[in-house]
Amino acid sequence: MKKHNFSAGPAILPAPVLKEAAKGVANYQGIELSLLELSHRGPEFMAIIEEATALVQELMDLPAGYKVLWLTGGASTQFFMAPMNLLNEGETAAYVDTGTWANKAIKEAKGFGNVQVLASSKEQNYNFIPKGYKIPKEAKYLHLTSNNTIFGTQLHRFPKSPVPIVCDMSSDFLSRPIDVSPFGLIYAGAQKNLGPAGVTVVIVREDLLGKVNRYLPAMLDYRTFIKEDSMYNTPPVFPIYVSMLTLRWLKKLGGTKVMQRRNKTKAALLYQEIDTNPLFKGTAAKEDRSLMNACFVMAEGYEALEKEFLKETEANGLIGLKGHRSVGGFRASIYNAMPKQSVQALADLMRDFAVRKG
Ligand SMILES: *Cc1c(COP(=O)(O)O)cnc(C)c1O
Repeated sequence: MKKHNFSAGPAILPAPVLKEAAKGVANYQGIELSLLELSHRGPEFMAIIEEATALVQELMDLPAGYKVLWLTGGASTQFFMAPMNLLNEGETAAYVDTGTWANKAIKEAKGFGNVQVLASSKEQNYNFIPKGYKIPKEAKYLHLTSNNTIFGTQLHRFPKSPVPIVCDMSSDFLSRPIDVSPFGLIYAGAQKNLGPAGVTVVIVREDLLGKVNRYLPAMLDYRTFIKEDSMYNTPPVFPIYVSMLTLRWLKKLGGTKVMQRRNKTKAALLYQEIDTNPLFKGTAAKEDRSLMNACFVMAEGYEALEKEFLKETEANGLIGLKGHRSVGGFRASIYNAMPKQSVQALADLMRDFAVRKG
């Protein structure tokens, strides 16, 4: 039996995707060559990247005017590439500070223009999502992080914005249906909810580009990748291949609506245990709890049992549950590919642990 993988990222991938990917690495579709040794401009890989792009368009229900790009450098590169392409010096961009990743995005944007931080939950160690802030009309864009991987909070509703939203969706990409029309740019590192590390999906509204007057190196200009269909240079062929297989898997299961239903069921199961088990407690505000990353700690009086519980999870094949150092305790990442049985295994162990130690 494979282990239950609760890692935050690189994270779990669907079992059939890994199986198919392994075949492609050994002998791609019976052509007696590995996919990894084929030209990226050959018919095999061209078909893969075209299908991956078409599947993102279909699964996200993209309106006209949006382009799907496959880039490198991780979501961390988007922290600076977005302002570099969208914000002139002297212009303002609005940011909401909901965690470590949002904070990094803010830091990078300051190198390209004025940054206005509209709200922050830093004072409460990012355990909630600020709401009700005013979005300035003169801002070039509003930057949000849809799911805060480290702190286990998620935007369950996007604010009505008078300016295009730029959103880091790294850890909840394709986890639910989204109306893309308020967004100017969406980016997601693949390694949380889509594929292996090494590729970043970017969805950009093309008409927002070409408005900055600074020099943009070709590799940091979205227009380069639009023009060349993400093939300006050698793209990361393996991560794109595996992402395409995950997209196929997602479509076959019924798309984002079905994903959302599954994700809600899994999260409800886990939060129910966190809330009713006297030994544990959640760290995020209930209304902002993430369906992707559930953060919890030992309840008051039981702190000394933390190491012991973590040891038991590992002994039982439940992997990657140690919380991020900035929150402590535990974090269960239960992305799209995580089966309900694995979540059930964790909830069962928590209950059993409470019976024995409570
Ligand atoms: C992991 C993560 C990042 C960083 O991604 P890289 O691809 O490692 O640069 C950024 N934002 C969020 C929300 C993340 O979860």
